[in-house]
Amino acid sequence: MSKYLSLGKFSFGMGDRFAHQGKAQLRACLMATDQGAHVVPVWNKSNREHTFIGTEPASLRAEADAAVKALGWKKPYHVDADHIRLETVDRFLAPSDFFTIDVADAIGQPAAAAEVQAFVGRHPELAGQLAIPHLEPPLDISRAEVERVANKFLLAVQDAGKIYRHIAAAKGEASFITEVSMDETDSPQLPHELLIILAALADEKIPLQTIAPKFTGRFNKGVDYVGDLKQFEKEFNEDLAVVAFAIQKYGLPPSLKLSVHSGSDKFSIYEPMRKALKKFNAGVHIKTAGTTWLEELIGLAEAGGDGLEIAKEIYAYAIQHVDEFCAPYATVIDIDKQKLPTGAAVNGWSSQQFVSALRHDQKNPAFNPSFRQLLHVSFKVAAKMGDRYYAALKKHEAVIAKNVTENLFERHMKPLLLGTH
Ligand SMILES: [Zn+2]
Repeated sequence: MSKYLSLGKFSFGMGDRFAHQGKAQLRACLMATDQGAHVVPVWNKSNREHTFIGTEPASLRAEADAAVKALGWKKPYHVDADHIRLETVDRFLAPSDFFTIDVADAIGQPAAAAEVQAFVGRHPELAGQLAIPHLEPPLDISRAEVERVANKFLLAVQDAGKIYRHIAAAKGEASFITEVSMDETDSPQLPHELLIILAALADEKIPLQTIAPKFTGRFNKGVDYVGDLKQFEKEFNEDLAVVAFAIQKYGLPPSLKLSVHSGSDKFSIYEPMRKALKKFNAGVHIKTAGTTWLEELIGLAEAGGDGLEIAKEIYAYAIQHVDEFCAPYATVIDIDKQKLPTGAAVNGWSSQQFVSALRHDQKNPAFNPSFRQLLHVSFKVAAKMGDRYYAALKKHEAVIAKNVTENLFERHMKPLLLGTH
């Protein structure tokens, strides 16, 4: 295995679309660390987000460095080029030290038949009964199934190898963290598929630190998990067993762990995840992004006056463009249009009404998940406002920062890492 930069056991991915909340986010990491959860902050922003907002990857590095300096953070932190591909990675090379190689598009495209055969021949251990600690019953995969899975994923893995080597050639092997993501695809990867994928990634000599599979159930943007919790828990435990086994069997880095691209706010899976991580003494990387942008809106609404006006204006625009805004996110949002208030109705709302509808407090009867999901995908409206939006972020920094920090610490880090909430 090549040299690599190792990632700490618990790491927390924090997206910050408008690059103003770095300190508020880092403060949540400080609070978690104070309470014994040593969390490594990772600032992530995808190529798609940079393109929508009109920012360059270097701005995320500048934000992270500034936050770290301002708060005197002495431990590791990273800047994640999230969901990059060979065509998009170059502008991320200098400022990033964490690369999420997205190969979802290549899943299902058949690899060369001879290479599939070579893979199956190289891995006789995968076919037949395979005892994996903590996996009951043992895996029992037919050779035909190994071949089917290899055929489905080998090209994606080879793509990941190409992109990894491109980054390594530019930056040097030991200077960055590698994640491979397969979450943005139609069907979840089952544990035996994950094992086969890991075997193939090891063959590519990728010093993998995190892998982001797609899990069963819906990971809608900004709202809770929708699906069978028991099934999720079972699969998550099985995935942890598979990862631990693959580290030993294929010589992958001992720090390899799962990365959960949560779409933010999957509160109900945090407790089963925490239990499973404890059982396996495993780490995890959790990625959030949009939850922080929504806290900006909450803070603006809470501030009242011109802050509330901006929040209302963003909604008024969003409600007129529901179909346009939702189209790219069809597989990751479930909006009930009947539940969306009109722009005029929201225009008459108080700060408290706006905040109650938006803040992710499932116990609050006024919480409106459809309203929240629509705003989640409407950050382009704020991007279009440009300087006016940035000026409001600065003017109302205190109230926004409080919401950003509290949200990450109270609703995410506490239940997932500390088991308190
Ligand atoms: Zn993702």
